[in-house]
Amino acid sequence: MTSLFDRFEAAFMPNYGVPPVALARGEGSVVWGVDGAEYLDMFGGIAVSSLGHAHPALVEAVSTQVATLAHTSNLLLHEREVELAEKLLSLLGAPGKVFLANSGTEANEAALKLAIKYGRQTGRSYFVAAEMGFHGRTLGALSLTGKPSIRDQFGPFPLDVRFVPYGDADALAAAVDGDCAAVFLEPTQGEAGVVPPPDGYMARAREITAAAGALLVADEIQSAIGRTGHWFAHQADGYLPDILTLAKGLGGGLPIGACVGFGPAATIFEKGDHGSTFGGNPVSCAAALAVLGNVDLAHVQTVAAELRDGLEAISHPLLKGVRGRGLWLAAVLTEDRAAQVQAAAQRAGFLVNAVQPDAIRLAPPLVITPAQVRSFLTAFPPILDEAADG
Ligand SMILES: *Cc1c(COP(=O)(O)O)cnc(C)c1O
Repeated sequence: MTSLFDRFEAAFMPNYGVPPVALARGEGSVVWGVDGAEYLDMFGGIAVSSLGHAHPALVEAVSTQVATLAHTSNLLLHEREVELAEKLLSLLGAPGKVFLANSGTEANEAALKLAIKYGRQTGRSYFVAAEMGFHGRTLGALSLTGKPSIRDQFGPFPLDVRFVPYGDADALAAAVDGDCAAVFLEPTQGEAGVVPPPDGYMARAREITAAAGALLVADEIQSAIGRTGHWFAHQADGYLPDILTLAKGLGGGLPIGACVGFGPAATIFEKGDHGSTFGGNPVSCAAALAVLGNVDLAHVQTVAAELRDGLEAISHPLLKGVRGRGLWLAAVLTEDRAAQVQAAAQRAGFLVNAVQPDAIRLAPPLVITPAQVRSFLTAFPPILDEAADG
């Protein structure tokens, strides 16, 4: 019989390669492969499965909504999208307006169009983003993406985007003048390997952009919705961007993205300027409402501290250290053996992500239990042993 892996390879474009595990189902932070193998999900589908798998509130919200009204288009409105936009704004605690999309890259496309329009209105012509940053794969978001491996072969792009080293506030200040329309930054770089900036960097970015009259776009697609132990990373960093983008954890596994504008940035778009057939889909909005109603920040902070302290207490020649915040950490290795660690973890029943050659990303469901965290901490040293030998 042809395996699912062979069928995948035969039917799909090679852009993902063939993934190492075929999943069948999940419950909480545990998932099972089609072969029955059990895994503890330590990366949550790239920081997406905030409520874990098959959370009763998510199942109920989505099932009820799909059985009631699955789609309206944006020519008609529905209750869930209004509730969701209101809920986001209340969690944000600042006056703003929301645009709903279906993914992260689309949320950033909306932000970029806002920035382009703002630039035209104010005579500003260029954009600034960070080296190694990740903002998505569609052409606008890709033009802001600083990872050469995914960017270079599709450029050049029609926008003037200037890249600065991430975390260097002086370099940012030097790059932003009165011609700059917007600066796009992640509050911690996710795809670069969960790399937090020095303390105060984002607040400095806020000062620099405000002084130059440029918009600050915080790409919180990976960092928000409780991931860092706060609803939004910027809230802990003490600043408010002009534009905020969200996706990943917002829908708990259902596709949704959001672009929020604050202050004057809330009303840059006029009628007809932007749109999406599926954006704000009732089912995805119902899922997001279930997520926002069930993420427990105190729980995230407790288990995150346990995970971080436990990792920091491990002394192993392959483990250099831990970085990141909340339930969003990278175990940094002393050698480029992340692929071997990921494979050894899989054999031991743990799904982790080799986000960089020397970094393992951990972004488990926000509902992971202390006992599950401890089981990972117990298993991790032997996993490192195996990866060091193999
Ligand atoms: C994942 C991610 C994106 C892109 O999101 P998609 O839903 O994959 O399009 C953009 N920015 C950041 C910071 C991300 O982590």
